[in-house]
Amino acid sequence: MTNNTVTEFSRKIPISGSYDVIVAGGGIAGIAAAIASARNGAKTLIIERYGFLGGTIVSCPMPVIGGYNPEVHTGIMTEIIELLRQRNGISREFHNEVIGGQMIEVRLDILKETAVEMILEAGGDILFHTWIAGALVENRQITGIIIESKSGRQALLAKVLVDATGDGDIAAFAGTSFEVGRKEDGKTQAMTLYGPIMDEVDINKLLEFIRNYRKMHPEEILEFIDEKNVFAMSGFAGMIEKARREGALKLAYNTIWLNGKKDEGWAELSGSFVPDVSGTDVKDLTKAEIDSIRQISSMVSFVRKYVPGFENARRRDRGSVGIGVRETRRIIGKYVLTQEDLVKQRTFPDVAARNSTAIDIHTPEGKQNWVRLKSYDIPYRCLLSQDIDNLLTAGRCISVTHEALASVRFIPPCAATGEASGTAAALAVKMGVLPKNIDILQLQKSLKTV
Ligand SMILES: Cc1cc2nc3c(=O)[nH]c(=O)nc-3n(C[C@H](O)[C@H](O)[C@H](O)COP(=O)(O)OP(=O)(O)OC[C@H]3O[C@@H](n4cnc5c(N)ncnc54)[C@H](O)[C@@H]3O)c2cc1C
Repeated sequence: MTNNTVTEFSRKIPISGSYDVIVAGGGIAGIAAAIASARNGAKTLIIERYGFLGGTIVSCPMPVIGGYNPEVHTGIMTEIIELLRQRNGISREFHNEVIGGQMIEVRLDILKETAVEMILEAGGDILFHTWIAGALVENRQITGIIIESKSGRQALLAKVLVDATGDGDIAAFAGTSFEVGRKEDGKTQAMTLYGPIMDEVDINKLLEFIRNYRKMHPEEILEFIDEKNVFAMSGFAGMIEKARREGALKLAYNTIWLNGKKDEGWAELSGSFVPDVSGTDVKDLTKAEIDSIRQISSMVSFVRKYVPGFENARRRDRGSVGIGVRETRRIIGKYVLTQEDLVKQRTFPDVAARNSTAIDIHTPEGKQNWVRLKSYDIPYRCLLSQDIDNLLTAGRCISVTHEALASVRFIPPCAATGEASGTAAALAVKMGVLPKNIDILQLQKSLKTV
């Protein structure tokens, strides 16, 4: 042992499998990547640290596919939504003008089942309860990864890897370059633990209060959807600020989101924010869990005492896994997509995915900045690591700026980049070339982006 380090002695570990394509991470990006890779004939394995697929959607839980636009988000995202519809797996749906598409609330049990079935039907393998803990790198290529699980420490070999860990863990283990946060100070969007959901709410009373509040303080209401059976609204800065000053509410910011279903008598609140923490630092993650639990608990007491309609409401047990992380590493690829590219709808000859969800930044200072967008291109080069030749990225960790990430982090674009990377990985294996050398036109024809 020296100062603050110990030496971990080298040891021989078993190779537990060998694959054409390994997809790291079972969130929406990994699900789409694994389905696409397996459907395109590659021997594919998806590895997930938890015992279910869905990632943030399930673990946060954040069950709302946001800004879905069927003309833009074709492919596996649309397929999943259609299957969920057939299986009664959609509980709510409404249009959100700000985000720029449909908000589709999914039933998590059905989503988990559907994702597993789609991967297995495509011929892919799944490995749950397994942490990826390292990458074996030789001559700019990852030859395999190190995994840790109840079965011990093992290695898995692959020809091509898709990093869909959200945090770019594989890329970081392999020593690739990445960026985090805003250009000026490296700060990322705040983390949020979703909820609470309150049952037995007097919805008529609550909505009457909110409609009056809106008339009196129109500048405070940022979003207002009040449809036949659903409602979704956000803001209430004055009320929150006052409650915070008086010690009745322990939130970091002055915004609460409120949504629910009128005929079912429930309302979901969301307003826990933990700024200035890193999603790749376990002490910060622990702090974020504790802070957000406290914020949620204070929201429950606050609404019961001060907000009409919640007097007799009961808090629903959500059994969530943990804090929702919006932003961590962005792996530097062969192109870095910018806000200007999105706003100007710049076209790219190697377009591999399309998206139209708004830029939605929860600033570390507590503001929410939106930029509405029309359909834009995500080039294939944003999915190719600039340092490791057999590594593709998908989902939240692709090569974009802080601002562009705030749009590509939505669920539909994560599925689209997952599908593109999975398809490209399988094509590379089939052609016996590196992902950067695949036939782009063939990829695009397969993805229907041309
Ligand atoms: C609070 C919050 C609210 C949001 N609201 C919305 C919304 O309303 N609508 C919307 O469309 N999007 C929303 N988003 C964004 C969206 O949910 C995510 O950006 C998206 O789901 C990310 O998908 P992903 O597959 O890239 O990553 P993730 O969902 O993070 O998936 C990564 C997976 O990899 C696994 N993993 C990570 N590291 C390892 C490792 N080392 N070994 C093994 N497994 C690993 C994780 O367990 C996880 O399952 C929200 C996000 C947050 C945090």
